Amino acid sequence: MKLHFRQGGMNRRWLLSYFVAFAVLLAVLFAGLFAFIVKYHYDYAYSLIDARASDLVNNYFSPYLDGTEESFVIGAVSFTENFSDKSMMEVWVLDGEGQPIVSSSGFRIDSGVPMPDYTRALSSTTEKGRWIGRNGIGEKIMAVTTLLPDRVGAVRFISSLQGIDRQLLGFALIIIGFAALLLFGVWLLNYPFIRSIVRSLRRINETATELGKGDWSARVNLTGMHDEVSDLGRSFNNMAGELGQAESLKNDFISTISHELRTPLTAIKGWGETIIQLGDTDPETTSKGMNIIVSESQRLSDMVEELLDFSRIQNGQMKVNMTKIDVLAELDDAVFTLKDRILREGLELIYNVPHYPIPMQGDPVRIRQVFVNLIDNAVKYNEHGGKVIILAELHGTDLVIYFTDTGCGIAPENINKVKNKFFRVNSTVHGTGIGLAVADELVRMHGGTLEINSVVGDGTTVTVTLPVEPVELPESPLPERTSTDE
Ligand code: ADP
Repeated sequence: MKLHFRQGGMNRRWLLSYFVAFAVLLAVLFAGLFAFIVKYHYDYAYSLIDARASDLVNNYFSPYLDGTEESFVIGAVSFTENFSDKSMMEVWVLDGEGQPIVSSSGFRIDSGVPMPDYTRALSSTTEKGRWIGRNGIGEKIMAVTTLLPDRVGAVRFISSLQGIDRQLLGFALIIIGFAALLLFGVWLLNYPFIRSIVRSLRRINETATELGKGDWSARVNLTGMHDEVSDLGRSFNNMAGELGQAESLKNDFISTISHELRTPLTAIKGWGETIIQLGDTDPETTSKGMNIIVSESQRLSDMVEELLDFSRIQNGQMKVNMTKIDVLAELDDAVFTLKDRILREGLELIYNVPHYPIPMQGDPVRIRQVFVNLIDNAVKYNEHGGKVIILAELHGTDLVIYFTDTGCGIAPENINKVKNKFFRVNSTVHGTGIGLAVADELVRMHGGTLEINSVVGDGTTVTVTLPVEPVELPESPLPERTSTDE
């Protein structure tokens, strides 16, 4: 396995934080455990020496404690000579002043040897003292002093701790080995996992860089990714797909809009040149040309207005001037504006809305713009002989207006997309792909909703619901505004 460490990389961070924290925790735990084992062994050694000392002091020395120094010395010599555990420990007998009288080793004892255990025994209520330290030749020892009755002297047992320490070293090595094994196990379990995450993130990062360079086809390879990381990769790919689509929609939009602007400009230029050439010779053709120039200029102006509206919406700068309006009067106006065109296109108009005014807070220009836009689509995407049906109903404080046509319809997979900016299904019909996006936003700004239902081949119904003010219905209902023209 090859380690990849990068300055501040996840691997390194994980190693520093998680792994080191775990290692420290293990070290503390095992050090505690080791300290406990050491204490247990030393205490056990002490308890053995202590049991032996108490036994000897109480039983052996009693016959020699008649108060004379001579008897005591005889007892001490006899005791050390007969001491059976000489191989395991050394025993000294001290006089009442703490001066060594005799030793089981038979060597003379230097009277200046430090004996902290003796000092402790003197100040202890148990009359016993323990000391762990090093003797004159640097060997680690445990010395236990037990005072004799009436403090006439003391017995000092000295045992080497080397055997125990050797055993403890064995324990320490086992514990360190076990800790290292545990750490290795944790590393073995976690490192591949972290490495797979780091690898996946690196792959996502590389794809993001490719996307950033404009390669919209770049996708994250999801093989080997699991759980949340694979979800992230999938979401990333979806996002890349959406971005790519948005980019291609934008490019399409630029070519569409250039084309849409060029068509009326070509007509205007052509007719302008024709009129200049004709001079005063053909007033009829001149008048026809002038009308075309005016109507194409109007088309251009409408298109530019729509683009400006769209850009205002994108920048969040679209403003609506709310006043009290009769929403049906605005619908009447929109229908009136387009009525001639509807008839010219050979379509039947069915218009059926309540006759009484329906007040609402709205921007009359923007509300009319929405209606014109929807009726314009109902005409554009219709077929000769088809119908444009506009119905309105009051549902409580909601006015619901239906704009229905019997045109080509919209495929189910595109229904949710047609409200998106730049989206167009049919590029043979004039349009910019932003009309519905603008209409939807304007309706939303009026607190309403715009819904689209469509069946391919049958037609489309755009339903606009607008919140209106409470309407006082006339006592004898007036006939509804109805218009059916062919
Ligand atoms: P456009 O300027 O292209 O008409 P819109 O935003 O108004 O832009 O509409 C977006 C797309 O939705 C259109 O290109 C068309 O494909 C589809 N569309 C909108 N209205 C209708 C409708 N009444 N019938 C069929 N398709 C429609």
